[in-house]
Amino acid sequence: MERFAGKTVVITGGNRGIGYAIAERFATEGASVAIASIEEHVHEAAKKLSASTGSNVLGVVCDVTNSSDVKQLYAKADKELGGVDVSVQNAGIITIEKVEDLTEKQWDDTMEVNTKGVFLCCQEAIRYMRKSGNGGKLINTASGQARDGFIYTPHYAASKFGVMGMTQSLAKELALESITVNAICPGIITTDMWDYNDRVWGKMLGDYKPGELMKDWVQNNIPMKRAGEGKDVAGLVAFLASEDADYITGQTINVDGGLIMS
Ligand code: NDP
Repeated sequence: MERFAGKTVVITGGNRGIGYAIAERFATEGASVAIASIEEHVHEAAKKLSASTGSNVLGVVCDVTNSSDVKQLYAKADKELGGVDVSVQNAGIITIEKVEDLTEKQWDDTMEVNTKGVFLCCQEAIRYMRKSGNGGKLINTASGQARDGFIYTPHYAASKFGVMGMTQSLAKELALESITVNAICPGIITTDMWDYNDRVWGKMLGDYKPGELMKDWVQNNIPMKRAGEGKDVAGLVAFLASEDADYITGQTINVDGGLIMS
């Protein structure tokens, strides 16, 4: 199905994990896609995605905490792909520390990437959406931790609650311009980030061996009794970016097999 033929989609953190799965979904459905990440390896990912889907895929090195990088990302997408119809603010980082060990730098870095980075990208995407006059879709990646802060991650939980508040505020400001703004809350999704979570939380919460904590949480806390995959998240993002979601804005939606039901 070529649901997104003629559309241009920007995805930060699009070179791996959840972001890559989202990019793959849009490229498979006919969109031109710009994927951004902080390292040069984004170009390899862009080549791979273009080869596997046949779509136009642009790789851009961009640190989402740096406003000049962000400006350059959207300017490139506009110039080389022809506009910005959808922007998915997905890049994110996590660290796990007991409160007395959490450094000010860890706090600042997490807020910079997860919250300010989302804001800078939304701000820039909006300029191009306004210029086109065709509206647009902004989709921000929050987390289950925007609903329920987990142990040893106050900085990460704060950064993701921030994404939800920002989403609501922007949705109200943009509602009359056909630009919708929604957030998503993935639960446990098998990516590099979750490998880190499993390892570090696992050690801190009871000397679990690698893989054991994830198994335990999945069995005991996820009604569907399986971890999520990037494609589970991509399905929700594609829906929110589609015409079927034109009347949905300011919402934060869980995609987690039932882990959190509020
Ligand atoms: P990964 O750790 O697998 O990937 C993180 C991505 O973010 C990479 O592409 C990385 O780029 C990019 N990135 C990090 N910092 C920056 C930066 N400053 N500028 C640009 N890009 C950056 O994460 P996931 O795929 O697991 O997570 C994606 C999103 O989903 C995150 O926002 C995360 O918080 C959220 N999430 C994930 C969950 C999970 O279970 N996996 C659960 C809930 C939310 P590079 O490769 O170049 O380093």
